[in-house]
Amino acid sequence: MKVVILGAGVVGVTTAYYAACDGHDVTVIDRMSGPALETSFANAGEISPGYAAPWASPDVPKKALKWLFMEHAPLIVQFHKINPAMVAWGLGMLRNCTPARYAENKSQMVRLATYSRDMLRDLRAAEGIAYDHRTQGTLQLFRTQKQYDAAARDIEVLKAGGIDFELLDLAGCHGVEPGLAHASDPLVGGLRLPGDETGDCFKFTNALAAIAEAKGVKFRWNTSVDALSESGGVVSARIAGERVEADAFVLACGSWSPLLARQVGVHLPVYPVKGYSITMPVTEDALAPQSTLLDETFKVATTRLGDRVRVGGMAELAGFDRSLNPKRQRTLERSVFSLFPDLAKTEERAFWCGHRPMTPNSVPFVGRSKLKNLWLNTGHGTLGWTMSCGSARIVADGLSGKTPQVSLER
Ligand SMILES: Cc1cc2nc3c(=O)[nH]c(=O)nc-3n(C[C@H](O)[C@H](O)[C@H](O)COP(=O)(O)OP(=O)(O)OC[C@H]3O[C@@H](n4cnc5c(N)ncnc54)[C@H](O)[C@@H]3O)c2cc1C
Repeated sequence: MKVVILGAGVVGVTTAYYAACDGHDVTVIDRMSGPALETSFANAGEISPGYAAPWASPDVPKKALKWLFMEHAPLIVQFHKINPAMVAWGLGMLRNCTPARYAENKSQMVRLATYSRDMLRDLRAAEGIAYDHRTQGTLQLFRTQKQYDAAARDIEVLKAGGIDFELLDLAGCHGVEPGLAHASDPLVGGLRLPGDETGDCFKFTNALAAIAEAKGVKFRWNTSVDALSESGGVVSARIAGERVEADAFVLACGSWSPLLARQVGVHLPVYPVKGYSITMPVTEDALAPQSTLLDETFKVATTRLGDRVRVGGMAELAGFDRSLNPKRQRTLERSVFSLFPDLAKTEERAFWCGHRPMTPNSVPFVGRSKLKNLWLNTGHGTLGWTMSCGSARIVADGLSGKTPQVSLER
């Protein structure tokens, strides 16, 4: 089967890999000069089925109001950039804040993320791929007793989902993350998920693209998908001015997917939710994090990636704006340096922003669209790295006429 994959982020490249393993003739198109140069470039590095949860939860409307007035808020709305797409997405998110919808969306996310983590483990064993990965779990850090006590609710959900966890006091946190002993802010404890992993998504995607290429996948870089068109339910594409036909197109353009999908009458409620990260070298191993820590107060994740640390977070509703706001950098630094004051004795910092392809219910579109040769693998939001291998395996199974092991209801 001739398969054309649109987009070479982590989602497009993993799809190409599995489709090639199944014997398809695969071409990947991307407007950038190489793999993972958009949102998959510098994310927070967590592979975290344990924390897979929709943003739209019953307590979010109340919290969002409070965040509007906070200096280091995890959610920022750029009111001067409000447009119909942002409003429609926001209303869709509010509709998903009921307890029933939250439970349904969470269960789909956890199923997909857990399957995906297992697929990643298999892939690592099969290909020996290295990407600064560690398998030491993740630690959600509580700075207040109130946060620690509130973990009881999350623990019930973890138990129901069969996810291993450890509730740790401060000494327990120091045991798994010794560098925290130097924290300058008071801490109370943490919730550790030993089954979670970490790793550099950019390194992974590039290494996997090379493996896929060796299996026969063709990559066309610096090549834009100009338009999609449809005739009789069959999609074709205009790519770099030339008309391209295929047995299957897989739309994996992340936040940009809706712009192409709507040209063939497929509505994808995916909004680009901007996030930021800083990457810096570690100069003192003992004073640095060993795995991922999630700072519950700032909603910021700090991850060890080899000899570097990546600090990521924040959600800004500002469309496709790419400006780097120094206030967001200060929030990331406020979180990480209060936990690990001496982790990096250098001023070297790579500050970055990316656009998470978010659906209102946080569940991605994975599978065939209403058009017979258009497949969707997009809208993975906050957890696209975590969900990539599983989503790609599901789409590859569909292309090969096999029943996927996980299906997402919509
Ligand atoms: C700050 C931050 C922290 C995050 N942390 C985590 C984390 O810890 N764990 C986790 O699991 N996830 C995390 N994420 C989310 C994750 O990074 C994304 O969900 C994931 O990278 C999306 O991958 P993608 O392949 O769908 O999109 P992208 O990586 O954006 O790839 C889409 C590709 O499509 C191409 N494209 C678009 N339009 C066209 C066109 N017209 N023609 C040709 N090519 C086109 C682009 O060039 C791009 O290469 C984070 C995101 C951010 C912003």
